[in-house]
Amino acid sequence: MVNRVHLKEIDNLLRVLFPLTRSITGEGLRKTLRVLKTVANFNIFEVPSGTKCFDWKIPPEWQISAAYIKDSSGKKIVDFSDNNLHLVNYSESVNKIVSFKELDEHLHTLPDLPKAIPYRTSYYKKNWGFCISYNQYKKLARDGKYHVVIKSKFKRGSLTYGEKVLNGFSGQEYLISTYSCHPSLANDNLSGIILWSLLLRELKKTKTYHSYRFVIAPETIGALSYLWSKKNVISKVKGGFVITCVAGSGPLGYKETFLGNHLIDKVVRMVFRDLGIAYKKYPFDVHGSDERQYSSPYFRIPIGTITKDKYYEYRYYHTSLDNLKFIKSTYLVHTLRIYLKVIEYLELNRVYKSLNPWGEPMLGKRGVYPDIGGAVNPKRTNRDNLEIMRWLLFYCDGQNSLLDIYEKTGVSLPWLDENVQRLQEMKLLKEVRE
Ligand code: ZN
Repeated sequence: MVNRVHLKEIDNLLRVLFPLTRSITGEGLRKTLRVLKTVANFNIFEVPSGTKCFDWKIPPEWQISAAYIKDSSGKKIVDFSDNNLHLVNYSESVNKIVSFKELDEHLHTLPDLPKAIPYRTSYYKKNWGFCISYNQYKKLARDGKYHVVIKSKFKRGSLTYGEKVLNGFSGQEYLISTYSCHPSLANDNLSGIILWSLLLRELKKTKTYHSYRFVIAPETIGALSYLWSKKNVISKVKGGFVITCVAGSGPLGYKETFLGNHLIDKVVRMVFRDLGIAYKKYPFDVHGSDERQYSSPYFRIPIGTITKDKYYEYRYYHTSLDNLKFIKSTYLVHTLRIYLKVIEYLELNRVYKSLNPWGEPMLGKRGVYPDIGGAVNPKRTNRDNLEIMRWLLFYCDGQNSLLDIYEKTGVSLPWLDENVQRLQEMKLLKEVRE
């Protein structure tokens, strides 16, 4: 499936989207969604500023046109137009001459990573600030005067999010969510929003068995506003994923759901095992992304996250060094393949019941013994298939899912599915839908 996804296309998306000044509201966020809509179409919604969402309120929309610091000679030494991380996201407007001491109270640096510009936000507290490298900070004249200018506005606008629901047959629904508010940071989370749109495009190509609810929203407040507007339908969601940090050079990882042994966790474990890929396991914790909202007491949706260089773990996290040099489109495609495999397994995980539950059915009269035929894998003998059919006929009682049977027998889902098809043709199994 993924072969048709051109690395060139991903590189192009990375280049176009990376410089945009995203935030929890505003034009950068809207433009990002418009670009992603060209990959796979989805619907865009606006939630007006001031709307109450549970314990939160949608803040005013932030508009930023310029921000810089000039030294006493009039030279621009920090300019937001060079890198949008230079400005604390949601800074209020300022235009004044300040001493180094006053400026210093509004400067953010990373002494441990002296070349990097940190990423900082102040969404809910009126403030202003600049972020610079520690190397630059050290050179600032302590006795100098500085002209700081931030041209920003707060207006009654809205928060923007995107959604697409792909309806399946099974009555089961899964959530695929990502967050779209980070400005020029590559792994966290430009990689995630691109993977999200490619995954949506892949799933749109076929009619899926389950339903998939794709959501792209600013982190925290966006997820909360989404849950607020969908609180009556979201309870149908059985589990899901928050897609983030999928293209770094570090290890593959999986952050488990709060249950740790939910269907989502089992499927991910199985996929990594079947693909023979090693990964780091991260148990659920209350820090993280929007699983904090989706899994909260009222919703309790188990959410997992597959990462390639997980947030908090890599050194360049939330700094200007998390840039396009830090990630690779090939890594992104690799993680996309894993997600697609996860979806493939979720799709295969169905429940069947035996149509002959009174003892074992007589397989001999159905021509099973001499030649079962159609083995896809030459290593799989007819005898193997016969063995699997016996296990299926034993466990398919309308309760055990194929995943349960995989866990009990060690036979992979695709191979179980192959034999389910045979048994269905013999009218010995019937699918049970919720
Ligand atoms: Zn982040």
